[in-house]
Amino acid sequence: MTFNDLGIIAPILKAIEDEGYTNPTPIQQQAIPILLKKKDLLGCAQTGTGKTAAFAIPIIQHLHAAYDENQRFRKKIKALVITPTRELAIQIDESFKTYGKNTKIQSAVIFGGVKQTAQVNRLKQGIDLLVATPGRLLDLINQGFISLRDIEYFVLDEADQMLDMGFIHDIKKIIALIPQKRQSLFFSATMAPAIVALSQKILGNPEQVTVKPQQTTAEKIEQAVYFVANEHKILLLTEILNQRNATSTLVFSRTKHGANKIVKLLDREGIKAEAIHGNKSQTARQKALSSFKAGDTKVLVATDIAARGIDVEELSLVVNYDLPNIPESYVHRIGRTGRAKASGIAISFCDAEERSYLRDIQKLIKQNVPLVEDHNYVDTRAELPPPKQGGGGGGRRPQGNQGNKPKKRPNTHKSAAAGGENKKRSFYRK
Ligand code: AMP
Repeated sequence: MTFNDLGIIAPILKAIEDEGYTNPTPIQQQAIPILLKKKDLLGCAQTGTGKTAAFAIPIIQHLHAAYDENQRFRKKIKALVITPTRELAIQIDESFKTYGKNTKIQSAVIFGGVKQTAQVNRLKQGIDLLVATPGRLLDLINQGFISLRDIEYFVLDEADQMLDMGFIHDIKKIIALIPQKRQSLFFSATMAPAIVALSQKILGNPEQVTVKPQQTTAEKIEQAVYFVANEHKILLLTEILNQRNATSTLVFSRTKHGANKIVKLLDREGIKAEAIHGNKSQTARQKALSSFKAGDTKVLVATDIAARGIDVEELSLVVNYDLPNIPESYVHRIGRTGRAKASGIAISFCDAEERSYLRDIQKLIKQNVPLVEDHNYVDTRAELPPPKQGGGGGGRRPQGNQGNKPKKRPNTHKSAAAGGENKKRSFYRK
Protein backbone atom coordinates (compact mmCIF):
# COMPACT_ATOMS: atom_id res chain seq x y z
CA MET A 1 0.00 0.00 0.00
CA THR A 2 1.20 3.54 -0.76
CA PHE A 3 0.12 6.92 0.61
CA ASN A 4 -1.59 7.49 -2.76
CA ASP A 5 -4.08 4.74 -1.91
CA LEU A 6 -5.24 6.47 1.27
CA GLY A 7 -7.12 9.40 -0.27
CA ILE A 8 -4.62 12.02 0.84
CA ILE A 9 -4.59 15.32 -1.07
CA ALA A 10 -1.64 16.38 -3.23
CA PRO A 11 -0.11 19.12 -1.02
CA ILE A 12 0.17 16.68 1.87
CA LEU A 13 1.40 13.83 -0.35
CA LYS A 14 4.15 16.14 -1.56
CA ALA A 15 5.19 16.95 2.03
CA ILE A 16 5.23 13.24 2.92
CA GLU A 17 7.36 12.53 -0.12
CA ASP A 18 9.78 15.29 0.89
CA GLU A 19 10.14 13.53 4.25
CA GLY A 20 11.26 10.42 2.41
CA TYR A 21 8.40 8.22 3.60
CA THR A 22 7.66 5.58 1.00
CA ASN A 23 4.92 3.52 2.60
CA PRO A 24 2.40 4.20 5.34
CA THR A 25 3.03 2.38 8.63
CA PRO A 26 0.33 -0.06 9.87
CA ILE A 27 -1.35 2.52 12.07
CA GLN A 28 -1.37 5.03 9.21
CA GLN A 29 -2.86 2.47 6.83
CA GLN A 30 -5.64 1.71 9.28
CA ALA A 31 -6.33 5.07 10.89
CA ILE A 32 -6.08 7.55 8.02
CA PRO A 33 -9.11 6.25 6.04
CA ILE A 34 -11.22 6.18 9.23
CA LEU A 35 -10.23 9.69 10.19
CA LEU A 36 -10.78 11.07 6.71
CA LYS A 37 -14.38 9.89 7.10
CA LYS A 38 -14.55 12.03 10.26
CA LYS A 39 -15.15 9.08 12.55
CA ASP A 40 -13.95 8.94 16.15
CA LEU A 41 -10.93 6.75 16.78
CA LEU A 42 -9.59 4.76 19.68
CA GLY A 43 -5.97 4.03 18.85
CA CYS A 44 -3.89 1.61 20.84
CA ALA A 45 -0.38 2.44 19.74
CA GLN A 46 2.88 3.64 21.16
CA THR A 47 5.23 6.34 19.91
CA GLY A 48 7.51 5.10 17.18
CA THR A 49 4.67 3.57 15.18
CA GLY A 50 4.03 6.68 13.09
CA LYS A 51 0.90 7.60 15.00
CA THR A 52 1.55 11.34 14.87
CA ALA A 53 1.29 11.36 11.10
CA ALA A 54 -1.71 9.03 11.38
CA PHE A 55 -3.69 11.73 13.18
CA ALA A 56 -1.98 14.86 11.84
CA ILE A 57 -2.50 14.14 8.14
CA PRO A 58 -6.32 13.77 8.26
CA ILE A 59 -6.71 16.82 10.51
CA ILE A 60 -4.62 18.94 8.17
CA GLN A 61 -6.66 17.64 5.24
CA HIS A 62 -9.98 18.53 6.89
CA LEU A 63 -8.78 21.99 7.87
CA HIS A 64 -7.35 22.57 4.40
CA ALA A 65 -10.67 21.61 2.78
CA ALA A 66 -12.53 24.02 5.03
CA TYR A 67 -10.15 26.81 4.14
CA ASP A 68 -11.28 26.78 0.56
CA GLU A 69 -14.80 27.51 1.69
CA ASN A 70 -14.12 30.04 4.37
CA GLN A 71 -11.29 32.54 4.22
CA ARG A 72 -12.00 34.19 7.58
CA PHE A 73 -10.94 31.08 9.31
CA ARG A 74 -7.69 31.69 11.01
CA LYS A 75 -8.84 33.55 14.10
CA LYS A 76 -10.42 30.43 15.54
CA ILE A 77 -8.70 27.40 16.98
CA LYS A 78 -10.37 24.47 15.29
CA ALA A 79 -8.15 21.57 16.29
CA LEU A 80 -6.65 20.77 19.67
CA VAL A 81 -4.06 18.13 20.55
CA ILE A 82 -3.35 17.45 24.21
CA THR A 83 -0.19 15.59 25.12
CA PRO A 84 1.55 15.01 28.46
CA THR A 85 5.07 16.37 28.00
CA ARG A 86 6.64 19.49 26.57
CA GLU A 87 9.02 17.50 24.39
CA LEU A 88 6.18 15.55 22.87
CA ALA A 89 4.14 18.72 22.36
CA ILE A 90 6.99 20.39 20.49
CA GLN A 91 7.48 17.32 18.37
CA ILE A 92 3.81 17.01 17.43
CA ASP A 93 3.70 20.68 16.48
CA GLU A 94 6.76 20.15 14.29
CA SER A 95 5.00 17.21 12.63
CA PHE A 96 1.95 19.35 11.85
CA LYS A 97 4.21 21.99 10.35
CA THR A 98 6.07 19.38 8.31
CA TYR A 99 3.03 17.60 6.88
CA GLY A 100 1.08 20.85 6.48
CA LYS A 101 3.84 22.92 4.94
CA ASN A 102 2.11 23.12 1.54
CA THR A 103 -1.21 24.18 3.07
CA LYS A 104 -2.35 27.35 4.82
CA ILE A 105 -2.74 25.66 8.18
CA GLN A 106 -1.08 27.52 11.03
CA SER A 107 -0.23 25.68 14.21
CA ALA A 108 1.22 26.66 17.58
CA VAL A 109 2.44 24.85 20.65
CA ILE A 110 2.11 25.78 24.32
CA PHE A 111 3.59 24.09 27.39
CA GLY A 112 4.50 25.02 30.93
CA GLY A 113 7.86 25.68 32.52
CA VAL A 114 8.63 28.71 30.36
CA LYS A 115 7.34 32.29 30.26
CA GLN A 116 4.02 32.58 28.53
CA THR A 117 4.64 35.84 26.61
CA ALA A 118 5.97 34.34 23.38
CA GLN A 119 3.22 31.73 23.38
CA VAL A 120 0.51 34.33 23.95
CA ASN A 121 1.92 36.53 21.17
CA ARG A 122 1.81 33.61 18.79
CA LEU A 123 -1.80 32.85 19.75
CA LYS A 124 -2.74 36.46 19.10
CA GLN A 125 -1.54 36.18 15.51
CA GLY A 126 -4.30 33.61 14.92
CA ILE A 127 -3.89 29.88 14.55
CA ASP A 128 -5.92 26.95 13.29
CA LEU A 129 -4.49 24.24 15.41
CA LEU A 130 -3.06 24.11 18.90
CA VAL A 131 -0.82 21.50 20.51
CA ALA A 132 -0.74 21.83 24.29
CA THR A 133 0.15 20.27 27.59
CA PRO A 134 -2.87 20.35 29.94
CA GLY A 135 -1.65 22.70 32.67
CA ARG A 136 -0.55 25.58 30.45
CA LEU A 137 -3.66 25.20 28.32
CA LEU A 138 -5.98 25.64 31.29
CA ASP A 139 -3.86 28.48 32.56
CA LEU A 140 -4.15 30.43 29.30
CA ILE A 141 -7.85 29.62 29.01
CA ASN A 142 -8.38 31.04 32.50
CA GLN A 143 -6.52 34.19 31.54
CA GLY A 144 -8.78 34.59 28.50
CA PHE A 145 -6.12 34.03 25.84
CA ILE A 146 -7.63 30.82 24.47
CA SER A 147 -11.18 29.77 23.69
CA LEU A 148 -12.06 26.17 22.89
CA ARG A 149 -15.58 26.86 21.65
CA ASP A 150 -14.68 26.39 17.97
CA ILE A 151 -12.88 23.08 18.37
CA GLU A 152 -13.94 20.55 15.74
CA TYR A 153 -11.07 18.10 16.07
CA PHE A 154 -9.77 16.91 19.40
CA VAL A 155 -6.84 14.55 20.01
CA LEU A 156 -5.88 13.13 23.38
CA ASP A 157 -2.43 11.65 22.95
CA GLU A 158 -0.58 9.26 25.28
CA ALA A 159 -3.59 8.85 27.53
CA ASP A 160 -1.90 6.27 29.76
CA GLN A 161 0.95 8.64 30.46
CA MET A 162 -1.53 11.46 31.15
CA LEU A 163 -3.17 9.39 33.86
CA ASP A 164 0.19 8.32 35.30
CA MET A 165 1.14 11.97 35.56
CA GLY A 166 -2.09 12.88 37.37
CA PHE A 167 -3.67 14.94 34.59
CA ILE A 168 -7.08 13.34 34.88
CA HIS A 169 -8.81 16.39 36.44
CA ASP A 170 -7.25 18.78 33.96
CA ILE A 171 -8.40 16.57 31.10
CA LYS A 172 -11.95 16.48 32.43
CA LYS A 173 -11.98 20.28 32.70
CA ILE A 174 -10.72 20.61 29.14
CA ILE A 175 -13.29 18.19 27.75
CA ALA A 176 -16.05 20.16 29.44
CA LEU A 177 -14.99 23.22 27.46
CA ILE A 178 -14.98 21.60 24.03
CA PRO A 179 -18.13 21.49 21.87
CA GLN A 180 -19.95 18.16 21.89
CA LYS A 181 -20.04 18.08 18.12
CA ARG A 182 -16.50 17.24 17.16
CA GLN A 183 -14.28 14.47 15.88
CA SER A 184 -12.34 12.90 18.76
CA LEU A 185 -9.20 10.81 18.67
CA PHE A 186 -7.82 9.00 21.65
CA PHE A 187 -4.40 7.34 21.71
CA SER A 188 -2.83 5.19 24.37
CA ALA A 189 -0.08 2.60 24.37
CA THR A 190 -1.97 0.53 26.91
CA MET A 191 -5.66 0.01 27.59
CA ALA A 192 -6.07 -0.50 31.34
CA PRO A 193 -9.66 -0.17 32.66
CA ALA A 194 -9.13 3.46 33.78
CA ILE A 195 -8.00 4.37 30.26
CA VAL A 196 -10.97 2.67 28.65
CA ALA A 197 -13.28 4.51 31.07
CA LEU A 198 -11.70 7.83 30.12
CA SER A 199 -11.95 7.04 26.42
CA GLN A 200 -15.67 6.42 26.81
CA LYS A 201 -16.11 9.91 28.23
CA ILE A 202 -14.44 11.42 25.19
CA LEU A 203 -15.37 9.30 22.21
CA GLY A 204 -18.71 8.78 20.54
CA ASN A 205 -18.97 5.50 18.72
CA PRO A 206 -15.32 5.02 17.85
CA GLU A 207 -13.57 2.78 15.38
CA GLN A 208 -10.70 0.99 17.03
CA VAL A 209 -7.19 0.50 15.71
CA THR A 210 -4.57 -1.50 17.55
CA VAL A 211 -0.93 -1.73 16.69
CA LYS A 212 0.45 -4.34 19.03
CA PRO A 213 3.80 -3.76 20.69
CA GLN A 214 5.32 -6.89 19.22
CA GLN A 215 4.73 -5.58 15.72
CA THR A 216 6.94 -2.67 16.44
CA THR A 217 9.46 -4.10 18.86
CA ALA A 218 10.06 -7.65 17.78
CA GLU A 219 10.44 -7.11 14.12
CA LYS A 220 12.79 -4.23 13.98
CA ILE A 221 14.70 -3.89 17.20
CA GLU A 222 17.57 -6.09 18.12
CA GLN A 223 17.27 -6.73 21.84
CA ALA A 224 19.66 -8.20 24.38
CA VAL A 225 19.80 -8.55 28.14
CA TYR A 226 22.88 -8.73 30.36
CA PHE A 227 22.66 -10.20 33.87
CA VAL A 228 24.83 -7.81 35.84
CA ALA A 229 24.88 -6.69 39.45
CA ASN A 230 23.88 -3.09 40.09
CA GLU A 231 27.36 -2.11 41.23
CA HIS A 232 28.92 -3.36 38.00
CA LYS A 233 26.46 -1.74 35.65
CA ILE A 234 28.50 1.40 35.17
CA LEU A 235 31.59 -0.63 34.21
CA LEU A 236 29.59 -2.68 31.74
CA LEU A 237 28.01 0.45 30.29
CA THR A 238 31.40 2.08 29.87
CA GLU A 239 32.76 -1.01 28.15
CA ILE A 240 29.80 -1.26 25.79
CA LEU A 241 29.94 2.43 24.91
CA ASN A 242 33.66 2.23 24.23
CA GLN A 243 33.40 -0.98 22.25
CA ARG A 244 30.51 0.07 20.12
CA ASN A 245 31.66 3.60 19.66
CA ALA A 246 27.96 4.38 19.44
CA THR A 247 27.18 7.80 18.04
CA SER A 248 24.00 8.49 19.96
CA THR A 249 22.97 6.43 22.92
CA LEU A 250 19.93 6.90 25.10
CA VAL A 251 20.34 5.44 28.58
CA PHE A 252 17.26 4.93 30.74
CA SER A 253 17.26 5.27 34.48
CA ARG A 254 14.22 4.57 36.63
CA THR A 255 14.83 7.60 38.84
CA LYS A 256 15.98 11.19 38.43
CA HIS A 257 18.61 10.72 41.08
CA GLY A 258 19.85 7.61 39.29
CA ALA A 259 20.09 9.53 36.01
CA ASN A 260 22.29 12.19 37.61
CA LYS A 261 24.47 9.52 39.16
CA ILE A 262 25.01 7.73 35.85
CA VAL A 263 26.09 11.01 34.24
CA LYS A 264 28.56 11.62 37.06
CA LEU A 265 30.00 8.10 36.88
CA LEU A 266 30.31 8.20 33.09
CA ASP A 267 32.05 11.52 33.40
CA ARG A 268 34.58 9.87 35.69
CA GLU A 269 35.16 7.28 32.96
CA GLY A 270 35.77 10.07 30.47
CA ILE A 271 32.43 9.77 28.66
CA LYS A 272 30.45 12.97 28.21
CA ALA A 273 26.81 12.49 29.05
CA GLU A 274 23.88 14.66 30.02
CA ALA A 275 20.75 13.93 32.01
CA ILE A 276 17.24 14.90 31.06
CA HIS A 277 14.44 14.58 33.58
CA GLY A 278 11.61 16.45 35.24
CA ASN A 279 13.80 18.22 37.82
CA LYS A 280 15.69 20.04 35.09
CA SER A 281 14.36 23.33 33.78
CA GLN A 282 12.71 23.35 30.39
CA THR A 283 15.65 25.34 29.00
CA ALA A 284 18.18 22.84 30.38
CA ARG A 285 16.22 19.94 28.90
CA GLN A 286 15.95 21.55 25.50
CA LYS A 287 19.65 22.41 25.57
CA ALA A 288 20.63 18.85 26.47
CA LEU A 289 18.37 17.51 23.75
CA SER A 290 19.71 19.90 21.10
CA SER A 291 23.32 19.05 21.82
CA PHE A 292 22.43 15.35 21.73
CA LYS A 293 20.65 15.77 18.40
CA ALA A 294 23.63 17.74 17.06
CA GLY A 295 25.94 14.91 18.11
CA ASP A 296 27.90 17.02 20.65
CA THR A 297 26.68 14.85 23.52
CA LYS A 298 26.89 11.18 22.66
CA VAL A 299 25.02 9.85 25.66
CA LEU A 300 21.74 11.13 27.00
CA VAL A 301 20.49 9.71 30.29
CA ALA A 302 16.74 10.00 30.71
CA THR A 303 13.87 8.95 32.92
CA ASP A 304 10.80 7.42 31.31
CA ILE A 305 8.66 10.51 31.42
CA ALA A 306 11.30 12.91 30.13
CA ALA A 307 12.11 10.55 27.27
CA ARG A 308 8.58 10.49 25.90
CA GLY A 309 9.18 13.26 23.44
CA ILE A 310 12.64 12.36 22.30
CA ASP A 311 12.68 11.72 18.60
CA VAL A 312 16.20 11.45 17.30
CA GLU A 313 16.52 10.14 13.78
CA GLU A 314 19.82 8.38 14.24
CA LEU A 315 19.46 6.93 17.71
CA SER A 316 21.84 4.02 17.50
CA LEU A 317 21.48 2.41 20.89
CA VAL A 318 19.07 2.33 23.81
CA VAL A 319 20.36 1.03 27.12
CA ASN A 320 18.02 0.13 29.96
CA TYR A 321 20.38 0.74 32.84
CA ASP A 322 17.52 -0.23 35.13
CA LEU A 323 14.71 -2.41 33.94
CA PRO A 324 11.37 -0.65 34.28
CA ASN A 325 8.94 -2.12 36.80
CA ILE A 326 6.08 -1.35 34.41
CA PRO A 327 6.51 -3.67 31.42
CA GLU A 328 4.84 -1.24 29.01
CA SER A 329 7.63 1.25 29.74
CA TYR A 330 10.08 -1.23 28.24
CA VAL A 331 8.15 -1.10 25.00
CA HIS A 332 8.14 2.70 25.10
CA ARG A 333 11.83 2.79 25.84
CA ILE A 334 13.02 0.49 23.13
CA GLY A 335 10.63 2.19 20.72
CA ARG A 336 12.96 5.18 20.92
CA THR A 337 15.34 3.27 18.71
CA GLY A 338 14.14 1.48 15.59
CA ARG A 339 11.89 4.41 14.71
CA ALA A 340 9.90 4.06 11.54
CA LYS A 341 12.89 4.46 9.29
CA ALA A 342 15.63 2.63 11.13
CA SER A 343 16.34 -0.64 12.81
CA GLY A 344 17.74 -0.30 16.29
CA ILE A 345 19.48 -1.98 19.16
CA ALA A 346 18.19 -2.10 22.73
CA ILE A 347 20.31 -3.48 25.53
CA SER A 348 19.04 -4.12 29.05
CA PHE A 349 20.95 -4.55 32.28
CA CYS A 350 19.28 -6.84 34.76
CA ASP A 351 20.34 -7.16 38.37
CA ALA A 352 19.14 -10.27 40.25
CA GLU A 353 16.50 -8.08 41.88
CA GLU A 354 15.11 -7.07 38.52
CA ARG A 355 14.54 -10.51 37.09
CA SER A 356 10.86 -10.52 37.87
CA TYR A 357 10.60 -7.33 35.81
CA LEU A 358 12.29 -9.11 32.94
CA ARG A 359 9.81 -11.94 33.22
CA ASP A 360 6.88 -9.51 33.05
CA ILE A 361 8.39 -7.75 30.05
CA GLN A 362 8.89 -11.00 28.19
CA LYS A 363 5.32 -11.94 28.88
CA LEU A 364 4.08 -8.64 27.50
CA ILE A 365 6.16 -8.66 24.34
CA LYS A 366 5.55 -12.39 23.93
CA GLN A 367 9.16 -13.13 23.22
CA ASN A 368 12.34 -13.86 25.12
CA VAL A 369 14.95 -11.17 25.14
CA PRO A 370 18.17 -12.92 24.10
CA LEU A 371 20.63 -13.23 26.98
CA VAL A 372 24.24 -12.22 26.48
CA GLU A 373 26.07 -14.84 28.46
CA ASP A 374 29.61 -14.01 27.62
CA HIS A 375 30.62 -10.69 29.10
CA ASN A 376 33.03 -9.41 31.69
CA TYR A 377 30.62 -8.55 34.47
CA VAL A 378 28.36 -11.58 34.62
CA ASP A 379 26.24 -11.68 37.75
CA THR A 380 27.05 -15.02 39.30
CA ARG A 381 24.43 -15.06 41.99
CA ALA A 382 22.38 -18.21 42.39
CA GLU A 383 19.91 -19.17 39.75
CA LEU A 384 16.43 -18.05 40.56
CA PRO A 385 13.56 -20.41 41.13
CA PRO A 386 11.15 -20.81 38.23
CA PRO A 387 8.01 -18.66 38.16
CA LYS A 388 5.09 -19.88 40.27
CA GLN A 389 2.77 -22.33 38.63
CA GLY A 390 -0.04 -20.52 36.84
CA GLY A 391 2.18 -17.66 37.56
CA GLY A 392 1.79 -14.14 36.10
CA GLY A 393 5.03 -12.62 37.44
CA GLY A 394 3.08 -9.60 38.66
CA GLY A 395 6.10 -7.85 40.08
CA ARG A 396 7.04 -10.78 42.28
CA ARG A 397 10.45 -10.31 43.80
CA PRO A 398 12.99 -13.04 43.29
CA GLN A 399 13.56 -15.32 46.25
CA GLY A 400 16.84 -15.73 48.01
CA ASN A 401 17.77 -12.14 47.62
CA GLN A 402 17.21 -10.43 50.87
CA GLY A 403 16.04 -6.86 51.18
CA ASN A 404 16.09 -4.13 48.60
CA LYS A 405 19.80 -3.61 48.41
CA PRO A 406 21.86 -6.41 47.02
CA LYS A 407 24.77 -7.25 49.24
CA LYS A 408 28.21 -6.37 48.03
CA ARG A 409 29.46 -9.53 46.42
CA PRO A 410 32.88 -10.77 45.57
CA ASN A 411 34.21 -9.23 42.43
CA THR A 412 32.84 -11.39 39.67
CA HIS A 413 34.00 -9.60 36.60
CA LYS A 414 36.77 -10.77 34.31
CA SER A 415 36.94 -14.21 35.89
CA ALA A 416 33.31 -15.10 35.71
CA ALA A 417 33.05 -16.05 32.08
CA ALA A 418 36.06 -18.30 32.29
CA GLY A 419 35.00 -19.81 35.58
CA GLY A 420 32.10 -21.78 34.20
CA GLU A 421 29.61 -19.64 36.09
CA ASN A 422 28.16 -18.67 32.84
CA LYS A 423 25.84 -21.54 32.27
CA LYS A 424 22.68 -21.21 30.24
CA ARG A 425 19.85 -19.38 31.95
CA SER A 426 17.34 -21.61 30.29
CA PHE A 427 14.65 -20.76 32.80
CA TYR A 428 13.93 -17.50 31.05
CA ARG A 429 13.64 -19.21 27.74
CA LYS A 430 10.63 -21.23 28.69
P1 AMP B 1 5.67 8.71 15.88
O1 AMP B 1 5.22 7.33 16.23
O2 AMP B 1 4.57 9.54 15.39
O3 AMP B 1 6.44 9.32 17.01
O4 AMP B 1 6.69 8.57 14.63
C1 AMP B 1 7.90 7.94 14.70
C2 AMP B 1 8.89 8.35 13.61
O5 AMP B 1 8.54 7.76 12.38
C3 AMP B 1 8.99 9.83 13.34
O6 AMP B 1 10.36 10.15 13.31
C4 AMP B 1 8.37 10.01 11.97
O7 AMP B 1 9.02 11.05 11.27
C5 AMP B 1 8.61 8.69 11.30
N1 AMP B 1 7.57 8.26 10.35
C6 AMP B 1 6.23 8.41 10.50
N2 AMP B 1 5.59 7.82 9.46
C7 AMP B 1 6.52 7.29 8.66
C8 AMP B 1 6.47 6.54 7.43
N3 AMP B 1 5.31 6.22 6.84
N4 AMP B 1 7.64 6.15 6.88
C9 AMP B 1 8.81 6.46 7.48
N5 AMP B 1 8.93 7.15 8.64
C10 AMP B 1 7.80 7.56 9.23
